Parts: sequence; structure tokens; C-alpha cells
Amino acid sequence: MTARILDGTKIRDQIFSELKDEVRLLTAAGVRPGLAAVLVGENSASQLYVKSKIAACEEIGLASALLTPPATVSTLDLLAVVEDLNRDNDVDGILVQLPLPPQVDTKRILEAVDPAKDVDGFHPVNLGKLVSGRPGLVACTPAGCMEILRRNEIKIEGANAVVLGRSDIVGKPMALLLMHANATVTICHSKTQHLPEVVRRADMVVAAMGKAGFVEPDWIKTGASVIDVGTNRVTDASEAERLFRNFPERLAKFRAKGTALVGDVHPDAVNFAGALTPVPGGVGPMTITMLMSNTVKAARLRRASPRVSATQSTAIAR
Ligand code: NAP
Repeated sequence: MTARILDGTKIRDQIFSELKDEVRLLTAAGVRPGLAAVLVGENSASQLYVKSKIAACEEIGLASALLTPPATVSTLDLLAVVEDLNRDNDVDGILVQLPLPPQVDTKRILEAVDPAKDVDGFHPVNLGKLVSGRPGLVACTPAGCMEILRRNEIKIEGANAVVLGRSDIVGKPMALLLMHANATVTICHSKTQHLPEVVRRADMVVAAMGKAGFVEPDWIKTGASVIDVGTNRVTDASEAERLFRNFPERLAKFRAKGTALVGDVHPDAVNFAGALTPVPGGVGPMTITMLMSNTVKAARLRRASPRVSATQSTAIAR
């Protein structure tokens, strides 16, 4: 069996096209959605992430603003930045790029963001809404995984779903979303016993552990759907050989570059799964996509008149 490849880039393009239409409608009605990104210091990975987020805003027509407090910023000064953004009516989404420097109280900053503008879905109010199944802003990566499943018409209701990982930003919200979609959910973590047996029973596996190729191909039940959230950079040659033993082209690329991106699921799982997200090109593109979607949603909920919201008709689950 060779799995159907669940192409995140294609879904991103579909959603971007829907969002562009919605942004056009909102803007014509006097509500141009806007995202403000707060990037503290000069962490090069964070700079790259924020740059891609701003580029995505430009692509779909959102207004964007970039605030760059220095790495020495205090918690109080950063709270003042967030408060200003909370008060600014043109800002619909506030994104505080993590990690923050050690002297800053990250929890306090994230909790200061107005829940109506919390487009990362990290605020306890939005987490509470998710727990109780009420509409709110949902963390982008798990929301993106749900879009991949829905848009590929993968049946969630009644499925035995196993979520590997219980982080606040991926594993826990993912498990809740699957449960609300009527899957029977098992959440696994580093203390879970007999992990291979648990995974073997799953109709649907969501892997979010941060461990390169950890899920062995023979753990995957034949025909199961596999959503691989893991994004791991491999630089070790013997590790690359273990992972790409049946993918000579990927191995050759690794040898040329000395590095490769792999998921938490061994690439050979493609021979067991019924459907599978590739790494890269699966869940990866969906995170920024859902950030854009959340920003448009936040603008619609906070500022648009019911008449404007009624005119939009995207298929995005909101
Ligand atoms: P995290 O906060 O480090 O959480 C990892 C989770 O995996 C923890 O709950 C941990 O269990 C569990 N775990 C670790 N080793 C395990 C093992 N041997 N068996 C079972 N469970 C184990 O990571 P995260 O932020 O959720 O991210 C997970 C992965 O997703 C990373 O590779 C990250 O890069 C990737 N990611 C990708 C995107 C994207 O856009 N594609 C977005 C976010 C994250 P304990 O709780 O017991 O420690």
C-alpha cells in the first residue's frame, strides 16, 4: 500500500484564495483586517518566521505592523506594548513571537493579549472555549491539521485517534479538536507504556513529539491516516541513512547539503498508511495559513457588521 499524500501546500493555496476574497469584502466594508507582530531581539529563526508571516499578510491583503523591542526589554515595557496593541482598533491580531528573552515573564505577556485578538490561540480564555466546545480562536497548528483532515474528507467521527504529544500548543488542543469532531482520542506522552501497541490500534495518528522518525512504520495500522506535525532537522549521517534507506533521492540530497527536515514518523510509513502528510510540505504550511485565517476571523467577529459577515461564504471551519 502507498499512502495518499496529504499536500499542505495545496490546501494553503486554497485557503489563501478564500481569505483574499473575504479580505476584499471586509476592506470594501471599511474593515481592513490587520496583524501586529511583536519580535523581541534578534533571534535569527524568529526573524525568519515573522518575515514569512508578514509576507503572508501582504499576499492576502491584510494590513501588518512589525514592532521590534530590544532583547533587553523588561516585562513591564513589553506589557505596555501589548496594551497599546489591545487598544488599537485597527489591530485585529496580536502575535508575540516566542521565545521571549529569559528576563521576560512569557506567561504574563501572553495572558495580557486581548483574547479577541489572540490569533495564536494561546490565551487561557481561548483554551477554555476550546475545552467547552465554544467558538473562539484555536491554536494554528492543530487547527491546520483539522483543515487537512476535513479538506481531504478523512472521516474523523468514530475513528480511534492517537495523539502523540501533549504540549499546550499542539498535542492538547489537537486532542480536544478531534474529540469535538467525535473521534475517540488517546493522548500519549513520554511516560506512556507500550506505545507501539497503542499506535497500532489507531485509525488516525497525529505525531507531535519532536523526535525524528521515532514512529516506526510497522506501528502504523494498514490504511491509517497519519498527520505528522514533527519538524526535525537531521544532520547526523547515520540517522539520515536510517530514515532515508528507501529514499535514495532524499539521501543524496542530504549528502549534498548535510541536513534534511524529517517528521516524527519514519518516512517508510508511506507503505502502511492510507493517507499521510509529508515533511516538509504537509502540516508546515498550515500554521501560517491558520494564523491568517484567525486574523480574518478576529476582524470579522470584532469589527464587521452582521451584514458583511453574512456575505462571506468560505468553507473554512470557524
Ligand atoms: P514539545 O512541547 O516539546 O512537546 C513534545 C511532546 O512529546 C511532549 O508532550 C512529550 O511528552 C512528548 N514526547 C516526547 N518524547 C516522547 C516519547 N518518547 N514518547 C511519547 N511522547 C513523547 O513539542 P511541541 O511544541 O508540541 O512540538 C512537537 C513537534 O511539532 C516538534 O517537532 C515541533 O518542531 C513541531 N511543530 C511543528 C509545527 C509546524 O508548523 N509544522 C508547529 C508546532 C510544532 P511529555 O509531556 O511527557 O514530556
